[in-house]
Amino acid sequence: MSVQAGPTDMLGEAKGPSLTLRYLRERAESVVISRIARNAEEVDAQYSWPADSLHALAEAGMLGLHVPARFGGLEQGMEGLVTIIETIATACSSTALCYAMHCVATAVIAAKATVPQIERYLKPIAAGKHITTLALSEGGTGAHFYLPQAQLVQKDGSFRLDGTKHFVTNGGYADSYVVSTVAAEPGAEPGEFSCVLVDTKAPGVEWISDWHGFGMRGNASRTMQLKQVHIAQENLLGERGDQVWYVFEVVAPYFLTAMAATYLGIATAALNCVVEHVKSRKYTHSGESLAELSNVQQGIARLWCEVERTRLLIYDAARLGDLGSPDALPSIFAAKIAAAETATLVTNEAMTLAGGIAYRDNSRLARLLRDARAAHVMSPTTELLKQWLGRALLDLPLF
Ligand SMILES: Cc1cc2nc3c(=O)[nH]c(=O)nc-3n(C[C@H](O)[C@H](O)[C@H](O)COP(=O)(O)OP(=O)(O)OC[C@H]3O[C@@H](n4cnc5c(N)ncnc54)[C@H](O)[C@@H]3O)c2cc1C
Repeated sequence: MSVQAGPTDMLGEAKGPSLTLRYLRERAESVVISRIARNAEEVDAQYSWPADSLHALAEAGMLGLHVPARFGGLEQGMEGLVTIIETIATACSSTALCYAMHCVATAVIAAKATVPQIERYLKPIAAGKHITTLALSEGGTGAHFYLPQAQLVQKDGSFRLDGTKHFVTNGGYADSYVVSTVAAEPGAEPGEFSCVLVDTKAPGVEWISDWHGFGMRGNASRTMQLKQVHIAQENLLGERGDQVWYVFEVVAPYFLTAMAATYLGIATAALNCVVEHVKSRKYTHSGESLAELSNVQQGIARLWCEVERTRLLIYDAARLGDLGSPDALPSIFAAKIAAAETATLVTNEAMTLAGGIAYRDNSRLARLLRDARAAHVMSPTTELLKQWLGRALLDLPLF
């Protein structure tokens, strides 16, 4: 048995997704088999950004997942996002995370793109020639990513940007960065924030650290320093003051969905890995395999239940999101909470079921366990999401 990405029935037939999504999943699976899977071990061992895997996704026409079809993109929503990212994450967590950040940043650009932004960003993204990413988090406000402190000052029809962004995935490798900022000129509304596009070669952009994460070792989540960076007026996303709309309509739903899919893929990979192991591990003294032990059978059943119920919740939340349902946001919060809890539980339990061999030599399961640990601390973190979900269900304001 191997658990497949996407909702399945007991016969393993794909259920639900449209023909376009099935076709896209098959395209992603073929890139996974031909390029991404074979790069995964080295990406982790060398802490290297998965260049070849992302180029393979670009060559397969997958970078424009959220670009409208009229600009050459695939015009997919959240179900498309889950489908593709889960497929990638079953083979390489770092590639899934790098691609996820690119997709979410693309959705942010596409939400209210102006004609120059369509020409400079969306069309090259759809053509597989441009990678973008999100630079929101800062040391000062940590997990509270919606409180940027990078300062944006408007002057003579353009802006000047100063600040430091932490954990910028694809840092130094993306072509552009969606950066959150706070208005800092005299008389600006307190706390008014805006997102701007910063090009990688903009003077004043510096990378002040390499990435040596506990897991997710290939995602280059580096610290970006912005010193007096000149930002043209046309690089402002939306209108000033639009940003709360962006956070709740685009960043939160797309980001949480992308993260849920990444950690679902990790849980699926761990389950498949431990199933293969317990079937093949045989004792010489009895001829019995681990799979023949009843506690192992029950353990595998429990993990399968965790993965499947999480998968159903995530795909359902994504579909609600695509329909614009008012119930979507609580479901999307729950999807990321569940994905984080399932990924950490399944990778942890799989290590025990697989025995000492999994602990030795930085095994695939050990790598998945390290990667899964990022789920709880990537903002909105599990702690914050549980508060937000509870408040939403109790009809209280989120903040
Ligand atoms: C692998 C990885 C990739 C990342 N990629 C990106 C990226 O591409 N772009 C980006 O912008 N950011 C990214 N991040 C940053 C991430 O989203 C968080 O902002 C960051 O991990 C917060 O770290 P911190 O140490 O500042 O957390 P802290 O803010 O110090 O929080 C520590 C803990 O306290 C809890 N906590 C804090 N406040 C509260 C509260 N009020 N109530 C209850 N609990 C609370 C948090 O939930 C967390 O568990 C990435 C992080 C990781 C680990």
